[in-house]
Amino acid sequence: MNRRYFIQKTSAAGIAFSLMPIACAKAPKMDAEFIILGGGLSGLYLAHLLEEVGKDYLLLEGSNRLGGRMFSRKDINREVGGRGIGDKYIEVMKLVKKFDTEMIDITDYMRSPTAIYVDGTLHKEWTDNTTNPAYLQFMALAKAPKLSALDQWYQRPDLDETYSTLLKRHGLTDEQIDLANISANYNNLRETSAINAYHSAAFRQFNDSERILNFKGGSYKFIDAIVGSLKKTVLRNKMVTKINDTKDKVTVWCEDGSSYNGKKVISTLPFSTLRDVKMDVSFNSNQQKAIAELPYTKITQIHLTQTEAFWEQDQIPYDMWTDTPLERIMNVSSNKDEKQMACWVNGTGTAFFDKMSEKEIADYTIKKINEIRPSTTGKLEYLGTQDWGQYKYNKGAYVEFGVGHASLFEDMIRPAGNMHFAGEHAAKKSRGMEGAAESARRVFNELTS
Ligand SMILES: Cc1cc2nc3c(=O)[nH]c(=O)nc-3n(C[C@H](O)[C@H](O)[C@H](O)COP(=O)(O)OP(=O)(O)OC[C@H]3O[C@@H](n4cnc5c(N)ncnc54)[C@H](O)[C@@H]3O)c2cc1C
Repeated sequence: MNRRYFIQKTSAAGIAFSLMPIACAKAPKMDAEFIILGGGLSGLYLAHLLEEVGKDYLLLEGSNRLGGRMFSRKDINREVGGRGIGDKYIEVMKLVKKFDTEMIDITDYMRSPTAIYVDGTLHKEWTDNTTNPAYLQFMALAKAPKLSALDQWYQRPDLDETYSTLLKRHGLTDEQIDLANISANYNNLRETSAINAYHSAAFRQFNDSERILNFKGGSYKFIDAIVGSLKKTVLRNKMVTKINDTKDKVTVWCEDGSSYNGKKVISTLPFSTLRDVKMDVSFNSNQQKAIAELPYTKITQIHLTQTEAFWEQDQIPYDMWTDTPLERIMNVSSNKDEKQMACWVNGTGTAFFDKMSEKEIADYTIKKINEIRPSTTGKLEYLGTQDWGQYKYNKGAYVEFGVGHASLFEDMIRPAGNMHFAGEHAAKKSRGMEGAAESARRVFNELTS
């Protein structure tokens, strides 16, 4: 075969071949244009926004429940996740108004007096502020610089040091930091970045909410209202195990063997669980690092109830701050006429309970509270424990940036190929529920602009 003939033959065949794939190859079967991973507030709000503009989506939730970290545990009749919102939250309040959700204003009774149990003695109140860890922590923070904008926290490497370093510079001793560590909302003040505290302070300052609201009857009512309004497919029990992004489609595989194709995938999964998903996606190096490393705050709540009003008998405030493994014992009810007891253990302290059986937790907790406060003897009943650090769908309560992590943030929330990121951890300005909703709004704009 001479060269000319070869070219003619092959070019004819080439034409035939180049036409054939177009005529015969099937376009990948698309289950939806957008596949949303995670049915917490962020995923549900994004679904709601997409539905409002007539976009096609499919939502995959790993557990058999929607709401994620907004969790009304009906088996023990307790709220165990996010529920406190400020009256000036922008995105969440839009939804509250849209669904006409009934709220309760808890501002006036949420800061009740607290008894103190330190070194084996129960005091009715702090006699001296210099031993009050909450006071110490916030007084030191008040002396530190302030952020001048809500989204400045990830752009201030000069403020990125361990929180304990900042507290020490403002006069706290190691002993006081140990005390503050018991109840600080972080895993460990000696590891967490001060950036988290600056951001929380800025969020309080700039959001300017005056009232704190809870969902009347439970956060599930709000979640149910959003879910009830959705018309497109929301699938539960779809634990995502693998994601593969090729240019023309993204495929998502679930634990039950099912798989789904979409043009884009939006992950609202906390990085604490996303890191367990096998992914073939073109992440930038900062995304890889953030997905692998971002810490999440551990919280364990031990819920109890009482059969008699022991606080009326001993005339000591119901809430207690303790230096025992139970840390804080407090009323978590949204109803001012009711008392719901929970021991609230944060961070490294949760390890104490992680290896115990539920019965051991119950026995230990009741015995310890009786020891701290004899008037409770014979009057407590154990309800249940919510261990957010070990809860397989979250592996932590909220994101907690370690030193060096805030500098990953801008890259971390950029789309990677056909994958976008929403969720509480991906919020530029807000925190908690408002952060989850804010990030959903940002991704909605990315997808529709
Ligand atoms: C104890 C506690 C108290 C809080 N208090 C407040 C508060 O008072 N105010 C406030 O504003 N915020 C609070 N928060 C935070 C708030 O609840 C969260 O920021 C918000 O609900 C997070 O929403 P999200 O959609 O980003 O994530 P999530 O609600 O966690 O949603 C993610 C979803 O992804 C699912 N998922 C995980 N992995 C997979 C997988 N592999 N495949 C499929 N699905 C998966 C999960 O089941 C979950 O439903 C609190 C949180 C906790 C835990």
